Amino acid sequence: MKSEQEYKQEIVEIGRRLYERGLIVAGDGNISIRVKDGILTTPRSVCKGFLSLEMIVKMSPDGTTKLDGTYNASTELPMHMLIYQMRPDVNAVVHAHPPCGTGYAAAGFALDKALISEVILTLGCVPLAGYGTPSTNEITDAMKPFIGRHDALLMANHGAVSYGSTLESAYGRMETLEHFARISLVAKLLGRERELGKEEVDKLIDLRERAGYMSSDKRCQTCSFLSDEKTPPTQEKHNDGFEELITLTRSELIELVKHASQLAQEGLS
Ligand SMILES: [Zn+2]
Repeated sequence: MKSEQEYKQEIVEIGRRLYERGLIVAGDGNISIRVKDGILTTPRSVCKGFLSLEMIVKMSPDGTTKLDGTYNASTELPMHMLIYQMRPDVNAVVHAHPPCGTGYAAAGFALDKALISEVILTLGCVPLAGYGTPSTNEITDAMKPFIGRHDALLMANHGAVSYGSTLESAYGRMETLEHFARISLVAKLLGRERELGKEEVDKLIDLRERAGYMSSDKRCQTCSFLSDEKTPPTQEKHNDGFEELITLTRSELIELVKHASQLAQEGLS
C-alpha cells in the first residue's frame, strides 16, 4: 500500500498530465483519491498543472470535513463522493474538460457508438448525463443513473468524469475518452461512422469479461453496443432530450423515397 505522500505525489503528477495534454486549462478540473482514512483532493481555483504536495487537501471519509491542508477542497467534491458511495470498487476520480469529448457533450451526443474495438474492450460506452449547475445537487442527480454501469461519463454542456480502482486507471479512461471523441469526430467529418455489428461487439464484450477488464454488470443496455432483447431497457437514456442523427447513403435514400411513394400510390388506388 502506498503512503499518503505517495498518493499526493500521484495527484500532482496526474494534474500535470491533464494540463499538459490540454484536458484542462486555467483552474479547471479536479482529482481525488480515496485512502483508508479519508479523501485526498485537489484544491479549488488553482491550476492543476502546477500543484505541489502541500496544496493537496485531506477530507473526512464522507467528504464533509477538512482534516488537513491550508487550501480549500474542490467545490465539485460532492460529485466525487457520489461516485465513491455508489461504487465501492472505485478509489480515484478525475474530472476534466477535454475539448473534443466536451464538444460531444455540448452538442448533445454520447460516445456510445461501437466504432473502435479497443475502446469497447477497455472503456465501454460513455453515456451523456443531463445538464446540472456546477457544485449543486443538479449535477449529481443527473449523473446518478449512469454511475453504476459505466466508468466514464460525459456531462452535458460541461465536461467529463472518469473513475477507477487507481488514479492511473481513472486518468487512462479520461485519455481514452478524449482520444475516442477525436476519432469519432474524424469519422463523422469523413461522412460515415461505420459501427461494428452486434456479433463483433458481443465477441469483444465476451473477451473483455473473460480478460477481467470489465464485469458483466457493465453491460450497458441502452446504447448501440448491446441490445439484449431479454432485458427491458433501463431508465438510462444517453441522448436524453436530443434527436438522434442518422446517416443514409444516396441509394438508401432513393430506396426510401421510392418505397414511400409506392405506399402513397397504393393508398390512392
Ligand atoms: Zn468542471
